[in-house]
Amino acid sequence: MTLDRNGDLAPLRFNGNFTQQEPLPQRSIDAALAVMHSGRLHRYNVAFAEESTETALLELEFAKYQKQRYCLACASGGYALQLAMRAWGVKSGDPVLTNGFTLSPVPGAIQAVGGKAILVETTSDLVIDLAHLESLIVQTGARLLLLSHMRGHLVDMEALCELLENHGISLIEDCAHTMGATFQGRKSGVHGIMACFSTQTYKHINSGEGGLISCDDDVLIARAILLSGSYMLFERHLAAPPKEVFEQIRLDTPNLSGRMDNLRAAILRPQLAGLDDNGRRWNQRYDAFANVLHKQANTFQLPARHPAAYEIPSSIQFRIPRFNEQQNRRFLDECARRGVELKWFGAADPNAYTSRYDSWHYLETSPLPNTDNILRRLYDCRLPLTFSVEDCELIGTIVTQVEQSID
Ligand SMILES: *Cc1c(COP(=O)(O)O)cnc(C)c1O
Repeated sequence: MTLDRNGDLAPLRFNGNFTQQEPLPQRSIDAALAVMHSGRLHRYNVAFAEESTETALLELEFAKYQKQRYCLACASGGYALQLAMRAWGVKSGDPVLTNGFTLSPVPGAIQAVGGKAILVETTSDLVIDLAHLESLIVQTGARLLLLSHMRGHLVDMEALCELLENHGISLIEDCAHTMGATFQGRKSGVHGIMACFSTQTYKHINSGEGGLISCDDDVLIARAILLSGSYMLFERHLAAPPKEVFEQIRLDTPNLSGRMDNLRAAILRPQLAGLDDNGRRWNQRYDAFANVLHKQANTFQLPARHPAAYEIPSSIQFRIPRFNEQQNRRFLDECARRGVELKWFGAADPNAYTSRYDSWHYLETSPLPNTDNILRRLYDCRLPLTFSVEDCELIGTIVTQVEQSID
């Protein structure tokens, strides 16, 4: 315990950096150097016909990880979402259902392909509201759901799939926050027709920028590969269907260049091998923080996890319903003063990665009163793996102390 100048107990402080990721594993650095020495950074650039490239191998390994047949690596997670929707056949003006609580690349991708985003309410467990989803399906005649597993929280996938099947709705999964997570033992991303992942620095594996699509459907993945800009070199893919599938569509599919390169694939492959271990490390950090808040369950509301879900939380969310506007401000300011950088999802103006659906002015949105109410007092804290388990316990303790100091 430290005493301050007046001899009082000094308040706890945290000195870590909330946006600092771990260094890349040495094997990633070695693989990146090998690619740079070769000069062959473009994914289709091979020294001899049979050579496999880092990008093609990453796709093969990720498909295997997902226990799916196909995978395509591309430029970003947001770009992957666009490709998946185009491959499915979203046309200008088509309604596309999606979560009202998500991050801006999701409505942005719908906008980019000319779709009309229809936003669905969120429950207090931060997952899509199935009753509201069903009513919107009936109301709008939409045929596609782009489901964002926002902040890694998995909805009851069994109930969701049954509902979608009853109404003949296709599912594309945005797994930017659920790489490595499972539902009933099956990887997140296998429940829909295509799943999109991000390998951007703040996700579960880090190549700066990057995206992955996994899929079991021959034609959808062939379209996505052609769209990504294959220069008709699709035979160099290792997690793709036979060339006959491409023959039927290759002249009807535009090239929307957005490939991954071998440098990024090279640094991702060793990280994919370490993903499950890191998943356990993230859970230890989440649990350390959450256990402190759970001791004051009347004050802090944490989203409940579905018993069939295994999640990999790289951030934590909690609500403090008792706060009014002024208390909310004081809480955020005092946490920041003590070194705890919280994001608030309810802010009227977008702040870094948080933005409220009503700030996406390019959409025509209807009010979502339940989502408004949830986001009003919803806080978010990143948990990078550079924090120790003790760090996370300390951050949780600071949050509870600051909450108690606010009357
Ligand atoms: C990060 C993210 C994406 C896509 O990310 P990119 O930055 O384009 O790779 C998509 N959805 C969600 C929810 C995300 O957080």
